[in-house]
Amino acid sequence: MEKIQMVDLHRQYERIKPQVDANIAEVIATTSFIKGPMVSQFQQHLEAYLGVKHVIPVGNGTDALQIALMALGLKPGDEVIAPTFTFVATAEVVALLGLTPVLVDVDPDDFTISIEAIRKVITPKTKAIVPVHLFGQNANMESLLAIAKEHNLYVIEDACQSIGAAYHFSDGRQVMSGCMGEIGCTSFFPSKNLGCYGDGGALFTNDDALAERIRSIANHGMQVRYHHDHVGVNSRLDSIQAAVLDAKLPELNDYIARRQGVAAYYDSAFANCPYVVVPARVSYSDHVYHQYTMKLKGVDRTALQKALQERDIPAMIYYPIPLHLQKAYEDSRYQAGDFPVAEMLSSCVLSLPMHTELDSEQLAYIVKGVLQSIESL
Ligand SMILES: *Cc1c(COP(=O)(O)O)cnc(C)c1O
Repeated sequence: MEKIQMVDLHRQYERIKPQVDANIAEVIATTSFIKGPMVSQFQQHLEAYLGVKHVIPVGNGTDALQIALMALGLKPGDEVIAPTFTFVATAEVVALLGLTPVLVDVDPDDFTISIEAIRKVITPKTKAIVPVHLFGQNANMESLLAIAKEHNLYVIEDACQSIGAAYHFSDGRQVMSGCMGEIGCTSFFPSKNLGCYGDGGALFTNDDALAERIRSIANHGMQVRYHHDHVGVNSRLDSIQAAVLDAKLPELNDYIARRQGVAAYYDSAFANCPYVVVPARVSYSDHVYHQYTMKLKGVDRTALQKALQERDIPAMIYYPIPLHLQKAYEDSRYQAGDFPVAEMLSSCVLSLPMHTELDSEQLAYIVKGVLQSIESL
């Protein structure tokens, strides 16, 4: 049996080597490393895949979130609502720009931002909400967009883990993750569902004026060369990363199906185990399983992780500390106990290996390992 990894990028590469290598060779042959035709080609292919008017490729997902906030013209002191149970980047860029992150709790079942909690923290200073489609499943966007509309707030979707997950609105419309709010942000970090071989990211929007502003900000705030209209940043997807992504994009739906297959296997294997709560699936969203994150009930997580490690089964905790308890985000506004759901989740979640290359032998081994380890504790 091949060694089990959380993510197996090498075996994935072996299946698409000819396309990836040819694309990279083409970039090198043209030496068009920055803003080359490969970048616009990938951009157009992704626009078509998502059904969105504009994709603006940038250097990474964190930059995408930062540029989104800048493009919306938010000013120091403006409040931005974000979930406390997420990867740090979501709130980091808010703080970095001198905006005020207003953290809220999440839903205990699907791990995404709590709609009731949003309502309670809206003030006249609130300007935006940043839902995170955590682990590959969309937040409850229909309710969230209604609140945003009611209070005139921007919605910036953190779709770094959810590319390709369609949202099913009650009127029958289907919209891709990241294409519902004013701006959506994604990451092409290697381990993401659509990952490159370095850093990469993108913003999505259907608004022409906003797209122009985003492009300009990502390029030193200039539209005409050496004329700087606003303070910008330097954030680009380079052509070699675009080459990898353009080779992988046609595989994305297959990658998603493979992840869903793994999740279905885990779900049925743990269905009768009283110590494991498998990830909830909501009716209004696809789940593309960036992570397969289960909740443990009455199991010593540290001991389980150790028992799994002894069997060479990796398992990770996403995320062990919610943002309101992180040193960098310490604030007199928050203390332990303020967000009980996030704190509960941080203490009991465990993510199992999830990628496109898990074979049946590995899956059987993982499931047996988890069930036997729990029994032995
Ligand atoms: C990965 C990730 C980011 C940041 O993306 P980078 O490309 O690593 O900067 C932001 N938010 C979430 C939820 C992520 O998973």
